[in-house]
Order: sequence, then C-alpha cells, then structure tokens
Amino acid sequence: MNQILKHVDKNINRLIKDLQILIRQPSVSAKNQGIEECAKLVSNTLKKSGIPSEILRLKKGVAPIVFGHVRSKKNPNKTLLFYNHYDVQPVEPLELWEDDPFSGKIRGNKIFGRGSADDKGELITRIKAVESFLKITGDVPCNIKFVIEGEEEIGSTNIEAYLKRFRKKFSCDGVIWEFGYVDSKNRPIIGLGMKGLLYVELSIKESIRDAHSSLAVIIKNPAWRLVDALKTLQDSSGKILIKDWYREVTPFSKSDLKLLGKEPFDENSFKKEYGIKGFVNDKRGLEIKKALAGDPTCNIAGLVSGYTLDGAKTVLPSSALVKIDFRLVPNMDPKKQLARLQKHLKQNGFSDVKIKMYHGEAAARTNPSDPFVAQIKEAARESFGDFVVNVSNAGTGPMHSFVNVLGAPCVSIGSTYMFSRIHSPNEFARIDLLRKTTKCICLIMDKFSKHD
Ligand SMILES: [Zn+2]
Repeated sequence: MNQILKHVDKNINRLIKDLQILIRQPSVSAKNQGIEECAKLVSNTLKKSGIPSEILRLKKGVAPIVFGHVRSKKNPNKTLLFYNHYDVQPVEPLELWEDDPFSGKIRGNKIFGRGSADDKGELITRIKAVESFLKITGDVPCNIKFVIEGEEEIGSTNIEAYLKRFRKKFSCDGVIWEFGYVDSKNRPIIGLGMKGLLYVELSIKESIRDAHSSLAVIIKNPAWRLVDALKTLQDSSGKILIKDWYREVTPFSKSDLKLLGKEPFDENSFKKEYGIKGFVNDKRGLEIKKALAGDPTCNIAGLVSGYTLDGAKTVLPSSALVKIDFRLVPNMDPKKQLARLQKHLKQNGFSDVKIKMYHGEAAARTNPSDPFVAQIKEAARESFGDFVVNVSNAGTGPMHSFVNVLGAPCVSIGSTYMFSRIHSPNEFARIDLLRKTTKCICLIMDKFSKHD
C-alpha cells in the first residue's frame, strides 16, 4: 500500500496536468457545448491510465455516458463503482472571472476553471487512484467501474434510464458518489444520503389581458387567488398542511440521531455568511441539523404577477405564477405527493390553479451501519486524520436511482473544499486536497476489497 500512496505523491504533477486538459475542454450541458468532445476526451483519459473504456448511448439527443471497467485478477468477485459527470455549469457571468473560465490556471495551491472541482477534479482523483494500483501492482484490488454522465448539471434526466438499460454492465457492490466536500477544518464529509425533490409551477389565468386596476371591484385578481392558495399549503411554522403529506415519513433511527449529534454546524458563521439574524422557528443546535437532513420543505422559488419594474403602475394582472420546490425525504414518492397536492387544491376550492410538474426525484439514504460506510471511515481517518459523517445532504441528486436500480450502498466522499465556488465564477480545486483524496480513494479500494 505504501508504494501505491508514494506513487500518488510522485505523480501529482501528472494529475494536475491531466486535470488542466479536462478543464480546457468546455462541456456545458445546458448549452450542448463540447459534450461529445469531452466524452471522447474522458474516454481517452481513462484509456491512457490503463482503464478500458467505451462510450454508451441511450438515444439520439441524449448525452453519452463514458463507461470504464477494469477487472481484478485476484479478486473478481467484488466491484466498486465510481459515479461522476463530465459536464459543467455555464460560466456566466463572464466578467466576474479573473481568468478565462476554461484556463486551468494555477495560482499557489489552487487550480482555477469551470469544472476544476465540480466534477472534473473529483473524477481525476479516482482515475489516478486506479492508475496507481495498475502501475505498482499490475492489478486492481477489486473490479472497478466508472459511470461518467454528461447531464448531471441539467438534472440527470436520463441517468435512471441508463442504469436500467445497462443494469448488468453497471452491477456493483458499492458506489462512490460524484462529489464529496471537505470542510474548513480539512475534514472530509462522508455523505450517506440526498433528499428528493418535487418541482412544480402553479398558475392562474383570470382574464385574457391585463386590465385597469379600477376594475378590481368586478374582475378577480389572480395574484390574490394564488396567494390565498399558497396560504393553504403551509403554516407560518413551516409545517406543510397538505393532507397525508408526511404519511410515509419515518423518524430518525437512534444511530442517525447519534450521528446528527456529532455533525458540526457553526450557527454563527452560517448566519454571518448569509447575513441573517436567526433561523426558522428560532431553531438551534440539533434541531437545525435534524431539519437539514430530514425535514420535507415547501419552498417558494419564484413568484411573479403584474407590474414589478420601477415606479408605480395601477394594473390588474391577467395571470399569476409561482414555482415551488418541495424537498422530499426517504419513502416519499414524488408522484404520490403530486397527486396529494392536486387533491388538496381541488378540495380547498382552487380547481382553477393549473399545476405543471417539472421534476420529480425520490430521496435516498445509505444505512450508517452498512460495512461499506465503515470501510470508507477507516480510509478517511488514515488519509485525513479525521472526518465528519453526514446523515443526509439537504440537497437533491439521483442517488436513489443507484441505490434502487443497482441495489448497492452509495456514499459520497471527495476532494471539493466546501468554499471552492462551484457553479460560480473563479471555481477552483485545491491541490493539497486532490492529492489527499487520491490517496484516500486508494485506501478505500484496498479496504473495500478486503472486507465483506
Ligand atoms: Zn454541479
């Protein structure tokens, strides 16, 4: 093992160079910019590292998946799968970047560029970990698979279809998630879950055009209608009032609560970061952590109607529209929740509210007592000295597709410093963390292959 870890150290400059090459290939899925080119580049990067690779396609118009597979000679009965993505977020606003967004410029300990952290930096640590094993031992300690998609930043719309189509090809015993954060005390955050999401748009159209606001005495105002409808969805404490909304939600287990208790959350620096005076319902301590990991939400993401520009305009709008994201927790089925929302509006007299669903995704959580989690904790302790376990990320990702379709535990761990400006101008990856994480991935491969 020592020789393998030394190989990582000695070859850190090659890792950096290969990451720069990946950053310099734009791959913005939202604009279909450089997607095909990047898929080819990633496939060649795998091959260059000794990992056989092929490009898989679902149908025309869908970004390809780059698949990599190394079979272990000495232990072909266990398979570890790395899930990553080669697409990146758009770079705008351009004027806020200090360098070209696709420069891969190095300054001190940082490599800058769109995708440097999210997700090309994570990908390169995994490729180099596998390469180090192949170079030193001529083998990998267990079978390794790479599933690298090109639509993560636009919602992973086709990942479930890919997983179903290639279920056999992708079969595995454990999945390492695409991202992983490192906190400000240099501790990797081992993530065990993601929340689900139901994204809807509610709209009301009352008249065929805006009217003079003096007519408000005889023409119904759709903005008021919408506000009235919204008020029935949740009370002022944040409790969702839709019938049976929480029906399938189960409370945290004892071990979840123990982990939540240990999770760090710096209330004061968080308040400072956002310039807020307090939290919802004056939550404190454990309550905050429980809510982040396990509370469903009903969030108004956008609300539009009438005149919103400078000055005054006395107008009666013809329509009103709201976008809502509901975060879901394990056992909540997005389709079932949508039906409950529809029924709720109808029963409360709001049949005139039109509902459009944009996105539905179930939540996922890996059991903290799964042996896979213990192996990752061990590897994290050896490479970073310390770690944090996060019961569930407050955000959403297609983790449930992996957990349910492939039937494997899924854990996130990676190299992304938590303030590395992902999705924002001047995104960067920290070289010290790329190096440490590559070694951590080597240790995970080793421990995973040795234990049942
Ligand atoms: Zn991202």
